[in-house]
Amino acid sequence: MVRSRITGREGLLIRHSEEESSMKRITGIRAISFDADGTLWDFEKVMRHSLHCVLKELERIDPEAAHLLDIDKMIEVRERVAEEWKDKTANLEDLLFNRRQAFRETLKDIGRPDDTLASHLDEVYLHHRFEDIELFKDVLPTLNALRSRYTLGLLSNSISYPERCGLKDLFQFVVFSQDHGVAKPDSSLFQIALEKARCSKEQFLHVGDSLENDIIGAMNAGIRCVWLNRKQMKHNSEITIEHRIASLLELDKILG
Ligand SMILES: [Mg+2]
Repeated sequence: MVRSRITGREGLLIRHSEEESSMKRITGIRAISFDADGTLWDFEKVMRHSLHCVLKELERIDPEAAHLLDIDKMIEVRERVAEEWKDKTANLEDLLFNRRQAFRETLKDIGRPDDTLASHLDEVYLHHRFEDIELFKDVLPTLNALRSRYTLGLLSNSISYPERCGLKDLFQFVVFSQDHGVAKPDSSLFQIALEKARCSKEQFLHVGDSLENDIIGAMNAGIRCVWLNRKQMKHNSEITIEHRIASLLELDKILG
């Protein structure tokens, strides 16, 4: 099994170097799955924007509470709660509970526990988290160019329904981790995608930005993959990545 040796926050700190660009051709593909957060849109950006909207709403309801918080503090609590609930999040209900719990803990942390307000703030967050997504500029041109030749799918650990994110009718299959009780990099989620795409491992390609979840996950499932490295970061020399691109627009070029 391939293991990652990435340290720190994934994508921000990657050790060692491997300078070669990887534009080898990929042939025989019939279906392509795409990761969502970080691959099709800037997750950090929409998450911060949504928390800003939550803070504005809190300021309207309880200005004193809002002044005790800022976006970084809210992110810190979300990360803490996500870590605490990591092994107990098996389905959509758990995931939604986990997210609501983050707002409960946030209000508790500032000495103003209020579960009703936490649920309301969570609703505000989720609304903006999906409705205000801005796709990377290369997403629609790429998907529109590929859709007539390949079966396209979404393979995600989040709950980003395509129709809520400006991607209606572009995917023929969708696999969300919480619907199956497993998450990437677990090989079984890739297996589910294969079944939904109705093709063999050899005919399947996965594209994603996370070395841990997308690349190592796909490699362990025996599936070919392309690392979308938008920020052109260096990667761990122990992982041999055959295909990597800096923009989705390069994908069409390497598909033979
Ligand atoms: Mg991602």
